Amino acid sequence: MTLSDKINDLKGVGDELAKKLAVLGVKTIGDLIENYPRRYQDYSNITSIDKIRPGIVTLEAKISGVNGRYARRGLHITEALASDSTGSARLVWFNQPYRAGGIKADQPYYISGEYALRRGRFSLSNPSVELVSNFPVNTARIIPIYRETKGLKSFQIRKLVRETSAIVQKMPEHLPQWLLKEQRLMDFQTAALEMHFPSSAEELEKAQRRLGFEEVFQLTLAALLNKQELTREKGLAIPFNQKLAKNFVAKLPFQLTDAQRKAIWRIYQDLEKTQPMNRLLEGDVGSGKTVVATMAALMAMEQDYQTALMAPTEILARQHADTVYKLLDFVGFGGQVGLLVGSLKPKAKSLMHQKIKSGEVRLIIGTHALISEKVDMHKLGLIIVDEQHRFGVDQRKKLQAKAGHMPHVLHMSATPIPRSIALTLYGELDISILDTMPPGRKEIQTKICSPNSRTQLNKEIDKQLEAGRQMFIVCPLISDTGLSQGLSVEEVFERVSKKDFKNRRVALLHGKMKSVDKDKVMQAFLNRGYDILVSTTVIEVGVDVPNATIMFVEGAERFGLAQIHQLRGRVGRSAHQSYCFLMLSDSKSPSQRLRALENTTDGFKLAELDLQLRGPGAIYGTMQHGALDLRVAKLTDTKLIATARNAAQEFIDKNENLKKYPHLAEKVSALQAITNLN
Ligand code: ADP
Ligand code: MG
Repeated sequence: MTLSDKINDLKGVGDELAKKLAVLGVKTIGDLIENYPRRYQDYSNITSIDKIRPGIVTLEAKISGVNGRYARRGLHITEALASDSTGSARLVWFNQPYRAGGIKADQPYYISGEYALRRGRFSLSNPSVELVSNFPVNTARIIPIYRETKGLKSFQIRKLVRETSAIVQKMPEHLPQWLLKEQRLMDFQTAALEMHFPSSAEELEKAQRRLGFEEVFQLTLAALLNKQELTREKGLAIPFNQKLAKNFVAKLPFQLTDAQRKAIWRIYQDLEKTQPMNRLLEGDVGSGKTVVATMAALMAMEQDYQTALMAPTEILARQHADTVYKLLDFVGFGGQVGLLVGSLKPKAKSLMHQKIKSGEVRLIIGTHALISEKVDMHKLGLIIVDEQHRFGVDQRKKLQAKAGHMPHVLHMSATPIPRSIALTLYGELDISILDTMPPGRKEIQTKICSPNSRTQLNKEIDKQLEAGRQMFIVCPLISDTGLSQGLSVEEVFERVSKKDFKNRRVALLHGKMKSVDKDKVMQAFLNRGYDILVSTTVIEVGVDVPNATIMFVEGAERFGLAQIHQLRGRVGRSAHQSYCFLMLSDSKSPSQRLRALENTTDGFKLAELDLQLRGPGAIYGTMQHGALDLRVAKLTDTKLIATARNAAQEFIDKNENLKKYPHLAEKVSALQAITNLN
């Protein structure tokens, strides 16, 4: 039997069980082995009954007096007595009528569960029981707890995994022996077995280290190989025209920040090479990425190459087109900018297609419409992807394919990812960070609010609206589900438009609306056609409404710090003082986590804090990165990550032949396909 064999080939797995396993993503034997437990329960301490104390216990005892009956309202109760040489204890199972049948008198059992006082009597309720053996799976050890699904519980998965242990033992090692030695790593076979059925907490930790190492090693190796492959590609060199760059900078209405200067300088160096650029420009909201991107495009345009700038929404694409047009018009390149979005009228669209094909338009700004088969590029030299994490790999690849060669690529992201994560995720990218903000920005006042201050707060806000300012209200949900506790866009819209601000013009926006409708609302808001926009986080991305000065977040405790920080970046874009109100859904005191938002506006700091307090999930949530399905490694374990990264580099430096390690090769090539950002 091999790892790629179907799960159905395993003893005891029929079609029905296979279907349930598929829900958990388990389709092959290998999947089952790699379906590592989510957590563990330590049942390893065996207690004699005279020493029993409330809490988690394991007994080695015989079971007698098993008796099942129906109590009130169809509740089924099975009772029994566990006895060892020192005493006896009461066992109770609820709604498990089958329990009575399976237990044999006069046989010793392991019994594990929680011993607690219930209705005046101590008992073990719903304990796991299993005949004494030298390899128990549900009791008397550290037991694995898996992700479960309807009709598939952990104990069933344990049984299946146990079936595979003979297969695991025959499996080849994935990593080179020299690496195992060098890093003092547990061999794969032991690690896989220890992950499921740990012999001790120490061994489990070693197994986790080994498998976590392997994950990061694979991910980094994939990134490094992608990077290596890219160095072999030949692209179009775009020479640096200093006069043009200087002219552009001189005509800007502001001075570039040092960070912007550094970034554009690196980009110009990249563009000059025939090896395609593959760079990530990371900068907090408002750090000024657009002008950097524009300068990159300018150089390409000057060489008669086309640039495609792809943004995730129409609103954003239109805003970019406006801004970039103005910037380029200072130096006489405005006429070469074109907008291509889905909602263009057919005539306008086909005209734009023509202009793109003929090369008349050299900077094409658009949405997914850019990838449409109807778009024929003339000479695509540079691709700029804004909010790159919002696009799938396929979409980026399709755009790239339109070049007919490997174009230069600049990815932009406003998600401040802690450096440790950025390096793991984007190992193949060169990274430029805009870590200084343009000067003269007014600090946004951030305040956590409790519901009993709402009336007073609304009065204050209304003064701002009266003065002509606008407000975003962001809600965590779209619809009233009955459980939404007044936090949905629908409910808040009702309350705000009919009660709280009934004299104001209120609009509603959420992701389930058609994109034409979304754009209409957004445009109207931008043109001051509304005072208040009640929305979900769809407005999170890059939208620029300078007159909006209030960001009001409902149910603030439900959002991640990084996410609120992004939302907050929607205001503070004009000379007016801006505010961010974080409304809690109850009057409990706010978490230390949210307090951080009151104290800092540094997105990188907040992301770092999110990572520590909420784990990588909080960061993934804002990133939507497919490859980051790390099962064992923790991104907070910077030491492990650094070690694994170095090892991957060493593997490459040694000129190791990946083909010698078929399993590794297979994993790495799959990861290469997912992580390849170019
Ligand atoms: P983001 O990085 O979020 O895309 P933008 O490029 O939209 O940021 O820039 C935010 C605002 O800051 C824009 O109005 C832009 O004109 C302005 N800006 C950019 N760079 C500077 C600078 N060096 N000095 C002053 N204002 C700047
Ligand atoms: Mg932007």
